[in-house]
Amino acid sequence: MRVAIVGGGLATCYHLLAIDRNLKIQLFEKDGIGAGASGSAAGLLHPYTGSLAQLNWCAQPGIAATIQLLDAAAQAIGKATYKISGIVRCAIHPEDQQAFFNIVRTQDDVSLWDPQHTYSQTGVYRPALFIPNGLSVYTDLYLKGIWHLCDHYGAELVLQNFTLSDSAYFDKVILACGANLAELYPALNLVLKRGEVLICEKRLTYALIGDGYLSLTDQSNICYMGTTSRTDLTDLTLDEATKLIRSQVDPWFKSDIQVLGYKSGIRVYRSLVSAHPIIDQLDNKTWCFPGLGSRGLMYHAYLGSILAKAILQQSPKLIPQVCKITR
Ligand SMILES: Cc1cc2nc3c(=O)[nH]c(=O)nc-3n(C[C@H](O)[C@H](O)[C@H](O)COP(=O)(O)OP(=O)(O)OC[C@H]3O[C@@H](n4cnc5c(N)ncnc54)[C@H](O)[C@@H]3O)c2cc1C
Repeated sequence: MRVAIVGGGLATCYHLLAIDRNLKIQLFEKDGIGAGASGSAAGLLHPYTGSLAQLNWCAQPGIAATIQLLDAAAQAIGKATYKISGIVRCAIHPEDQQAFFNIVRTQDDVSLWDPQHTYSQTGVYRPALFIPNGLSVYTDLYLKGIWHLCDHYGAELVLQNFTLSDSAYFDKVILACGANLAELYPALNLVLKRGEVLICEKRLTYALIGDGYLSLTDQSNICYMGTTSRTDLTDLTLDEATKLIRSQVDPWFKSDIQVLGYKSGIRVYRSLVSAHPIIDQLDNKTWCFPGLGSRGLMYHAYLGSILAKAILQQSPKLIPQVCKITR
């Protein structure tokens, strides 16, 4: 079977080849692996994302699948692809503390920190939710590792733009092309938001979330700082991105930080009100996998594995109903 995977989709490629090494998979990437939003991800991974700090849909199997793939990628390149750094989610808005109380009442993998304790651990004087199992993923190394595995299993990287007329050469086509899917299929009405992270010189013990976030990288003296999520998709200069991000982070996290550069990418959402990714069949041979929004690290491996099975077993029923385009 000849399969085209367009854009991201490394996890789906890995899971397809894990089931059947005889598949002929070509991975089309117009700008290089990690050129899209995946390469700009800050690397935060925990189950309580979103303003209400509630346990996210399928967070546990999602994170377990990601950790399995992170470990396989680490083994492939001989380098760590993540750290269980712990994530400290600081209360910024009046409603945050109530949300944190609620989550601690029902989940035993989190705890509350009082302002003094948060200050002693992070320098931020706020009540906080501590997520000890929160991960900092080293996204560049992770993508390199998954590609290494796919390459080893026989996938071919084709560095060119895929157009829908190229579909004729393939038995199956998986459109995992992020923001570009909005152009290819305008009827999906996808919502696009540009985001950027500053690359900063600063040592952190924990990743921090407040109004914006700071995350760890594979270099102990470098962290990412971000806040932006703009429906205006224009590029910002480094100065503009720095001003915008620091104006939100400085009020709760004061620190002398040197900004070294920034990364930018476009996140794709199903709508302004739903965070569920889309994974669905568009026609007999074509599947799409967009809408990972800000939760790409939580869902790519879990849903990539389900998509691989649905395609090879010709069983669209395996796709969770909430992920379908029309539910
Ligand atoms: C600033 C920022 C910070 C983020 N932080 C986090 C985080 O901390 N935790 C988290 O879980 N998620 C985070 N995310 C979100 C997450 O990384 C993304 O939602 C997710 O990785 C999107 O993956 P994707 O494969 O759908 O799209 P992309 O990663 O955008 O991949 C699409 C790829 O397709 C290629 N392409 C497009 N069209 C074509 C074509 N026609 N032919 C060939 N190639 C094509 C592009 O070049 C691109 O490389 C962040 C995103 C951004 C922007």
